[in-house]
Amino acid sequence: MMGGPILVTGAAGFIGMHVAERLLDRGEQVIGVDVFNDYYDPRLKAARAARLEGRDGFKMVRADIADHEQMRALVADAGVKRIVHLAAQAGVRYSLENPFAYERSNLAGHLSMLEAARHNDVTHLVYASSSSVYGDRPLEGSGFREDDPTVNPVSLYAATKRSCELMSQSYARLYGFPQSGLRFFTVYGPWGRPDMAYFSFTQKIVRGEPIEVYGEGKMARDFTYIDDIVDGVVAVLDRPPAQGVHEVYNIGDSQPVGLMEMISTLETALGVSANKIMRPMQPGDVTATYADISKLNALCGYQPQAPLKIGLEKFVAWWRQYENG
Ligand code: NAD
Repeated sequence: MMGGPILVTGAAGFIGMHVAERLLDRGEQVIGVDVFNDYYDPRLKAARAARLEGRDGFKMVRADIADHEQMRALVADAGVKRIVHLAAQAGVRYSLENPFAYERSNLAGHLSMLEAARHNDVTHLVYASSSSVYGDRPLEGSGFREDDPTVNPVSLYAATKRSCELMSQSYARLYGFPQSGLRFFTVYGPWGRPDMAYFSFTQKIVRGEPIEVYGEGKMARDFTYIDDIVDGVVAVLDRPPAQGVHEVYNIGDSQPVGLMEMISTLETALGVSANKIMRPMQPGDVTATYADISKLNALCGYQPQAPLKIGLEKFVAWWRQYENG
């Protein structure tokens, strides 16, 4: 594959590491950017980065994407024409605790990437949005569609992600460079994020500690295995919209699963029962997520492959190895 190096922001993060690996696998040159913040265990980020740094064609730049002059210079100097922008302050609940981290990484950071793209004739900017933009909706018979209303974010995190989409929309119109926003639905798998329920539950169940089940266990999530997410990201990257166009795609599994079912699948994968403590819904959480993936399917034939049972088994196998150093 030719076309100059691809910039992957958030490359020491969960999704970023996997996307960078897939791009390296097909012979691309990849420049990773990450600030290595301590939102969760920095050793996990260091281990992901080390994995990438062992590969030919990869270079990691330790930097804050909100530094717009540095980002613009980096894109210019390296001749970057394609960007996969995944760096962000993730997490819904943490956005109530530390709102300014979201302002910097998600708002200033996104604007910085838009500016870097527009000044350097970038041919495609692909960036991470989130299912949280759909707000709090009950689980109904059909999934959330990209043209559904997105006017009621229930967390600052969701509000920043929707703001990124609006900024991108304006920049596509103003400056023309093609952009694709990807609304990811609860991504899980090896090298995942310790702040997410499936990961923290695993640690607690194995240690014999109780797990707190929010929303009294009545929440449902469209859990999407990391390999399926990477398939979607790379397929979209290869299919830029026309000049001046900004597209938004759901990337999900399209099979929502109740929290209690996820826990029992995890218990089976671990061979241990959980001690569950039921808790009410937390501020910022939504009841359900459910992706309609027909738009992405029409673009590239996207069809998720990994059922939750298999995906959680793969996660558990990885986690056991990781825990044992
Ligand atoms: P992650 O936290 O593992 O990765 C994000 C990375 O970005 C981290 O390594 C972090 O250090 C880096 N980062 C944060 N702020 C930065 C800054 N200012 N400058 C440079 N680097 C910075 O999260 P992830 O799960 O890999 O998520 C990747 C993207 O996908 C994020 O934009 C996230 O909001 C989005 N997303 C993830 C999920 C999910 O379920 N994992 C769901 C919806 C959306």
